[in-house]
Amino acid sequence: MHINQLLEKQKKRLQKNSDFYTARGTHVYFKDDVVNDIDVEEVVAKVEAKLPEHLLSEIEMIVVGWFEEFEERNINAFYDSGAIYVSNIQDDHDDMFDDIVHEIAHSVEDAYGYQIYADQKIKEEFLRKREHLHNIMWKMGFKAPKSFFLNVEFNDDFDDFLHKEVGYDKLAPIMRGVFISPYAATSLREYFATMFTEFYLDSNHSFFKKTSPTLYNKISMLQNQEILDSQ
Ligand SMILES: [Zn+2]
Repeated sequence: MHINQLLEKQKKRLQKNSDFYTARGTHVYFKDDVVNDIDVEEVVAKVEAKLPEHLLSEIEMIVVGWFEEFEERNINAFYDSGAIYVSNIQDDHDDMFDDIVHEIAHSVEDAYGYQIYADQKIKEEFLRKREHLHNIMWKMGFKAPKSFFLNVEFNDDFDDFLHKEVGYDKLAPIMRGVFISPYAATSLREYFATMFTEFYLDSNHSFFKKTSPTLYNKISMLQNQEILDSQ
């Protein structure tokens, strides 16, 4: 490659990794360079175009980079007081979109916790699914105490049981039609966050509506600020 082209390419790369502000004022800060050729501005623009403004109200900043928490907790993004921390190592555009929307879901839990959880309806739906899962797994020989399945909070022992004893690869087919992914089964909050993400990832909602009708109605309700504020 010609040296000028190389320099031009490098310049472009550097530009892409420069901090910027979005139209709604979110500060996007690069702690580390993005490894793949992902246009972060495009990803964030898509997030802001797809999600209604009021559901973005908690987000002041997105920090792109690698953090110790990722390794410690085996995650690639987290939300903490107004900021989303997202990994700079992403497979592609959709992978990053998915991570950011997932963390926005957790910020929405902060902002609209009452509207989401106070009526206990999602919790009831989640527990019915957990019970179903317990029964299927028991029959298959994966015998874990029922108390695991009745605790809606994230629990390391339960996560280890799903993740290490059973294995996510074996779990995926067991969960088909119950939970969208093994991660969605790990806690009530992750059930909410994974389905919130799914809502914007896939515009065909028929499967979602059928398998998680209560959560689907709740997330649909969240789209409408007037209904939300009237509650
Ligand atoms: Zn989460």
